[in-house]
Amino acid sequence: MTFKELGLNDALMKAIEDLGFENPTPIQQQTIPLLSTKKTDLVALAQTGTGKTAAFGLPILNIIDSQIKDTQALILSPTRELCVQITNDLKKYAKYTKGLTVTAVYGGASITNQMKDIRMGSQIIVATPGRLVDLIERRAVKLSTIKIIVLDEADEMLNMGFKDSLDVILEQTPESKNTWLFSATMPREVERIAKNYMSNPAEVSAGKKNEGAANISHVYYTVNSRDRYLALKRIADFYPEIFGIVFCRTKAETQEVADSLIKDGYSADALHGDLSQGQRDLVMKRFRNHTLQMLVATDVAARGIDVEGITHVINYNLPEDIESYTHRTGRTARAGKSGVAIAIVTGRDSSRIKDIERMINKKFERGNLPNGVEVTEKQLFHLVKKLHDVEVKDEEIEKYLPKVYEELKDLSKEEIIKRFISEEFNRFFAYYQNAQDLNSGGDGNSVNNKTSRFFINLGELDGFNRNSLKDFLAEISKQHPRMLFNIDVKGSFSFFETESKLVDSFLALNKEDIEFNNRKVSIEASAKRMRDGGGEERRGGGGFNRGGSRGGDERRGNGGGFHRGGSDRGGSSKFGGHRERKSFGNSEGRSTDSGKRTFSKRSEGDKPAFGKSEFRKKKY
Ligand code: AMP
Repeated sequence: MTFKELGLNDALMKAIEDLGFENPTPIQQQTIPLLSTKKTDLVALAQTGTGKTAAFGLPILNIIDSQIKDTQALILSPTRELCVQITNDLKKYAKYTKGLTVTAVYGGASITNQMKDIRMGSQIIVATPGRLVDLIERRAVKLSTIKIIVLDEADEMLNMGFKDSLDVILEQTPESKNTWLFSATMPREVERIAKNYMSNPAEVSAGKKNEGAANISHVYYTVNSRDRYLALKRIADFYPEIFGIVFCRTKAETQEVADSLIKDGYSADALHGDLSQGQRDLVMKRFRNHTLQMLVATDVAARGIDVEGITHVINYNLPEDIESYTHRTGRTARAGKSGVAIAIVTGRDSSRIKDIERMINKKFERGNLPNGVEVTEKQLFHLVKKLHDVEVKDEEIEKYLPKVYEELKDLSKEEIIKRFISEEFNRFFAYYQNAQDLNSGGDGNSVNNKTSRFFINLGELDGFNRNSLKDFLAEISKQHPRMLFNIDVKGSFSFFETESKLVDSFLALNKEDIEFNNRKVSIEASAKRMRDGGGEERRGGGGFNRGGSRGGDERRGNGGGFHRGGSDRGGSSKFGGHRERKSFGNSEGRSTDSGKRTFSKRSEGDKPAFGKSEFRKKKY
């Protein structure tokens, strides 16, 4: 079926052509001829991403008289972002419709300007319920001339507590109007609205109730709940080209995850209701033009947003109410594209996964989070591809080339490639070489057979606390602090655990004559403590630090990935560099000529030498 057959006017046909829409989507095929020709109420069950906005927008534009300035159509949307998005879409469809004005009315933006726009005459108003009620109370808007009212994402409007506002608004509209209700899910409250506010609505549907889009694959990874964030980073690292939304349950969690990602050098930002409208607009703008790779959002804030090319939707937590799962995942695989929906879950969530499977009528794949080697390999080939595709500015680089060739003349092509790649590879290899298995049941699974416990003859009396001892141990063993956990600092001795595969290397430290405070450091294998293990010391670990600049939009331009510690940081790599900087010679310890390593006790009140070390700063 073609758009022409649907009976749209010439101005709309021209705009559609400009937009490159070739054929109407299934929902459009149903709504456009129906709504353009018949005065009827409508209940439409449609996912966003199915062309829903045009499914109501084109009939509206086909029906209203743009020569009359009265407001003839009102579209209600639950969020400001969606309100702006719908407005912009309608403006595109109305590009050749002379005299037509569409006004967006939403909280957080200047109400005076909105009032002014409405006063000038707007045939279509797109509004969030709260702000529209405000305008009604100020008598700044006249709804008695409305012919059509659209309740978009009706379920969400009810979820958000807009029921009373809807009542106020609907009261202002004439009996004669038609109500078109669009919803991706059909919970009971929406059915009730349909009953209460509509008469004999026509019903159309694109897909079954609450069923997600067909071209989304659903994967879940089971992790321990404390490893959730590490799992997120592992996923982001495994998909260097990721462009996605990370859904969290609360505003606080959203902000926290976004902050951590930003701190860890990822191109990410938060979107939730506690941000000012200005902040929200800016974040959305960056996300829309793909300068932001990961949008961390609440269900409410990201409802209905349509951003092109979203590759992944990540459920950092499964949503409180499982119907939101369809909304979340509907952000990807839009307009015929495919996408991946990922859920990071704990063992306890398995029954909820089953519930969702039933709802979307699709099976999840149980995924295994990639290990360090897999991530390293993926990043390596990403780097190779970047290298292959990089734009060469021949003119600008020309003058440097003779000297560069001269410098490299002793090296074969293979050698040059190897070295060039190693410049990056070494960093991520170092970072990931000891990465733990994050899959629940793997060796990241708190204390299990794969970990061993040790005794060390240093403790509080030597000035150590848990963190500083951990860093000290990391330093003498040349392991990452992450490999040390369950550290119990006692008076003159302590216990710690590490992975069993490292037992020999820890015991071998006894042969190295390491002294602390003129006492030989002694490490012995110890019986395992009975406890659930893990705990605090594991926090803040995992993943790799891209070290990009804060708010580093530019990062995406670099293709993300292992471009860390860029030149804005004076070229110092945060990645692995700590090992070099924190040599024994320039901290408390020093290497003696005999190779004996000595350390001295810190004086009272000193900052713990290892406590707030670079290690702590290294995001893992
Ligand atoms: P929506 O469901 O309204 O959020 O639309 C999802 C995406 O599909 C938007 O980016 C629209 O621009 C696009 N779209 C809508 N209708 C069509 C169509 N008939 N052909 C191709 N793309 C479309």
